Amino acid sequence: MEDSFPDYKTREDDIRVYFPHHEEWTIHIKRTWEKQYCYAKCPGEDYFHAILAGEIYIQRGDEKYCLDCALRHGFLTQDRLFWQRGPRPPKKMPM
Ligand SMILES: [Zn+2]
Repeated sequence: MEDSFPDYKTREDDIRVYFPHHEEWTIHIKRTWEKQYCYAKCPGEDYFHAILAGEIYIQRGDEKYCLDCALRHGFLTQDRLFWQRGPRPPKKMPM
């Protein structure tokens, strides 16, 4: 149906996300109000922000990331052509 939406392909409109190295990750919906924090900090913030009930997050071992941080750190990408760009090792977060 993309043909009927010629402007759909612009990056800003395309909210699909991809896992270039998906083998080691799982995707979750946070289903409780228990306190749970993103493993990364937002730029300019010196605290770990909460993941809210109902929020989608990704996990690798004990590391949990909100989608915003996952995109920023390159664990997820909106680049649909990621598979053509060759392997890029996922960045590890310094603790
Ligand atoms: Zn985050």
